[in-house]
Amino acid sequence: MSAAGELRAALRGRLERRRREGLYRSLRMRGPGPVTAQRLDGRAVIDFCSNDYLGLSTHPRVVSAFREAGGRYGVGARAAHLVSGHTELHAELECRLAAWTGRERALVFSTGFMANLGAITTLVGPGDAVFQARLNHASLLDAGRASGARLYRYRDLRHLERLLERAGARHRLVVTDGVFSMDGTLAPLPELAALCERYEAWLMVDDAHGLGVLGPQGRGTVALHGLGQDEVPVLMGTFGKALGGFGAFVAGPGELIEALIQEARSYVYTTALPPAVAAAALAALEIVETDPRRRVRLDALVGRFRAGARARGLALAESRTPIQPLILGPPERAVAAADRLMKTGFWVAAIRPPTVPRGTARLRITLTAAHTEEQVDALLEALGATLGQGA
Ligand SMILES: *Cc1c(COP(=O)(O)O)cnc(C)c1O
Repeated sequence: MSAAGELRAALRGRLERRRREGLYRSLRMRGPGPVTAQRLDGRAVIDFCSNDYLGLSTHPRVVSAFREAGGRYGVGARAAHLVSGHTELHAELECRLAAWTGRERALVFSTGFMANLGAITTLVGPGDAVFQARLNHASLLDAGRASGARLYRYRDLRHLERLLERAGARHRLVVTDGVFSMDGTLAPLPELAALCERYEAWLMVDDAHGLGVLGPQGRGTVALHGLGQDEVPVLMGTFGKALGGFGAFVAGPGELIEALIQEARSYVYTTALPPAVAAAALAALEIVETDPRRRVRLDALVGRFRAGARARGLALAESRTPIQPLILGPPERAVAAADRLMKTGFWVAAIRPPTVPRGTARLRITLTAAHTEEQVDALLEALGATLGQGA
């Protein structure tokens, strides 16, 4: 067999295994427009799986800021930040992010995956230890692995404390999602901060799903708990979720930001975020900071969804956030339920291992401020028919 033939055969075996285990993933192509008016495979559907929690991806002010900056700066940033890719839009965005999150400084990264990779590999290396919440996002886990530090996954606070007691290391970094992205539950940040203080560990929070949605002025889970930079020295956030855009940032003490600029390879060796994308993030941030109405509306829809789901006997999780999982167990069950919902006009994501632990495949329903009460009620009706008692 030729080398290219061997390559095909090797991958075909893996793909077939994935299919047998019900873990095969396929792309779906959506049309333009807001979550409430999607077309998929020629059919009208309502999107209940986006992370555009506030509906800002299509907000007129955000879109016009993007267009205007695109007209002035062009499409691409042309180079990495340290070469000639850094613009006044990036600098302004970093100032505003620092002020919004109550940190000394902030640094824009091109994606959240790269921000996590850059932050963790800059902070720790061989001889250090990283403690990760069991449900942390894949990018955090991969960053921990790439750092060369010793890795620990903790199940809960008691487990973390035992690990911190025992693990000797030069530096110790505790990493957690602020809102667990597949469960919608909040990390116990005050307790984590207290443990980190007691055991001299650094705390990093990835607040991709908290920023914009929770806390005063949408300042996220850290602010929701009344914590600041002293308790949580490393804060990561993204523009791809509630801000409706693309890109990410790390915020914290000046020394952290300087070290990232010097050493974070995923910052240094990549093209800067397009300036127009930074302009869109600035416009979205302005709305998040000054207009609480979208958060209030989203919260009301979450309450409505939960009350309706409870009334229909659906197995709701603990979440009070716009991420509302319905845990079904086997991957085939989640996929079949998502397929049935799609046929009735609702686009809901089936989430399977390895994104979630084995035996906990689920529908991950996400609500946004752009949905209407009627759409949420119609989804509940369809869920009841698909999953409710007697279905
Ligand atoms: C989406 C997400 C990321 C990755 O951010 P991108 O900008 O999409 O690369 C990181 N962490 C969490 C918790 C996320 O949900």
